[in-house]
Amino acid sequence: MSAPSPTAAQIRSLPKAVLHDHLDGGLRPSTVRELGEELGVEPPAASDEGVADWFEAAADSGSLPRYIATFDRTLALMQMAPALRRIAREFVEDMVADGVVYAETRWAPQQHLAGGLMMGEAVAAVQEGLDEGVAASERAGRRIVVGQILSHMRQLPPTLELVELAAARRDRGVLGVDLAGPEAGFPASRFAEVFERARELQVPITIHAGEADGVASIAQALDCGATRLGHGVRLVDDLGPESGGPGGAGEPGPVARRVLDGGVCLEVCPRSNLQTSAAASMDTHPVDRLRRLGARVALSSDNRLMSRTSTSREWQRVVDTFAWTLDDMERATLDALAAGFAPAAQRAALGEDVVVPAYAAARR
Ligand SMILES: [Zn+2]
Repeated sequence: MSAPSPTAAQIRSLPKAVLHDHLDGGLRPSTVRELGEELGVEPPAASDEGVADWFEAAADSGSLPRYIATFDRTLALMQMAPALRRIAREFVEDMVADGVVYAETRWAPQQHLAGGLMMGEAVAAVQEGLDEGVAASERAGRRIVVGQILSHMRQLPPTLELVELAAARRDRGVLGVDLAGPEAGFPASRFAEVFERARELQVPITIHAGEADGVASIAQALDCGATRLGHGVRLVDDLGPESGGPGGAGEPGPVARRVLDGGVCLEVCPRSNLQTSAAASMDTHPVDRLRRLGARVALSSDNRLMSRTSTSREWQRVVDTFAWTLDDMERATLDALAAGFAPAAQRAALGEDVVVPAYAAARR
């Protein structure tokens, strides 16, 4: 008999790992309001509920300009060190409260310099906030490992400085680099030199690909050395038909083979995929099929504010739709840990000391 699906309470409390969460997409509605008042930036609504509604409605609107405008709102609040520090600390607090034991936050330092900060200063401010959050959670007896990923933006000029910064801070909380921003029309190949340097410096690489653009974009991300893909859900276009006539299910194509055989982890964020139309519905979301084909899948929240979501809500969506079991949840959590960019010993210890015992207890 197969293991049962986790209950809602188990989904919230069991240890989870988050590989894909944007710092500028995860502000608390109350923080948007309070920082707005502090900085003289009018918040989009007067109440927390109103702020949450505004962000969700804009992200749900199907209008790209409205969606992008939500980030203008949060970025406007994140140009000074104290705000970056606060938001990073709250990121850790919110992850801990949601049962997350391993979390990587990503953001683009180039977008946080309007207040006069240098990139290194901005990264240091975020790290202070992360460290404060971890220290507070340890005092409360809750273990969590966190770190930051520095994102390049597809629409901005490539800069080696960001990679050099990531390499210089590898032992101080920076785990890797990413490529984010509008995928269609801004190919990853423009950043080939940046990612070549990252590989030389042994800085791990994840790239948003296969979300707003297709299989060719995924291939480019792999060519750049990505060992993880932000979303990657359009890989489904290279899987062939799910089942079919006399020939049965199709064989995965060459790009799908590279992902499946190479153990490339797909950072899947279901609610976000629905909002950006990378998937039409949960029922037709490729996450389950990719998992059944053996893909490493890590469920994450992407932009908790814009998607009005949390890691456990993303898990709930997948459990409700595909009846994933406790075993599935444990395996995906261990897969996510295995694909994490923090030092291997830290990730392995979390798996052995925290994840495996908690799921074993839940099955009893
Ligand atoms: Zn993302």
